[in-house]
Amino acid sequence: MSTTINIALSKGRILEDTLPLLARAGVEPLEDINKSRKLIFDTSDADVKLTVIRAADVPTYVQYGAADLGVSGKDVLMEYDGDGLYELLDLKIAQCRLMVAEPEQLAKNDDPKNWTRLRIATKYVNIAKRHFAAKGIQTDIIKLYGSMELAPLVGLSDRIVDLVSTGKTLKANGLVEVEHIADISSWLVANKASMKMKHKKLKALVEQLAIAVQDQS
Ligand code: ADP
Ligand code: MG
Repeated sequence: MSTTINIALSKGRILEDTLPLLARAGVEPLEDINKSRKLIFDTSDADVKLTVIRAADVPTYVQYGAADLGVSGKDVLMEYDGDGLYELLDLKIAQCRLMVAEPEQLAKNDDPKNWTRLRIATKYVNIAKRHFAAKGIQTDIIKLYGSMELAPLVGLSDRIVDLVSTGKTLKANGLVEVEHIADISSWLVANKASMKMKHKKLKALVEQLAIAVQDQS
């Protein structure tokens, strides 16, 4: 009996880093994912199919078993409300950090130790609430879906919580990092029931991916 494994991949920058890892683990899409409008792809492993979806949707597909495995940013996993996922393996790709940032001017006389109430724009509402609540800091959080860097420039918020890698976007907009919340990379996640029902095939695949991760560093 053959067991099909469905892997949900995050579109965009994570995908670019994921495909080489999968290839080293013996899973290569049979056509160019970036040139196709398809959503499901057969691979060089007859038992493995790939789906490519919006990064923020990956945990949902995996939790409900629509995918057995997923590749998801730690930021997305931290923000996700559901459960029923195993975080199996740090793939060490799409590495960046989740930060609090603010205008340079404000940063000159600002000390996070003195924060009592903050007006924050972010797409990471849950993470931001949790992070500041744990430190007894009150927050007014404004939910955005992108371009967080704009918010302080137009008076929508004083600070932002966002991902930073090179810091170039912050710098270009006169913002500086003032507090580190978490180091971020993408993780391999699994549906809990799949781990029991498809254990043999999944274990083999995860082992191959673990070796591929080792090789990449
Ligand atoms: P979307 O526009 O759908 O939010 P992005 O491509 O901006 O998608 O981000 C998708 C994922 O890529 C994020 O959840 C994060 O894990 C990762 N990521 C985002 N920005 C960076 C970055 N600057 N460096 C590395 N990884 C990043
Ligand atoms: Mg983006």
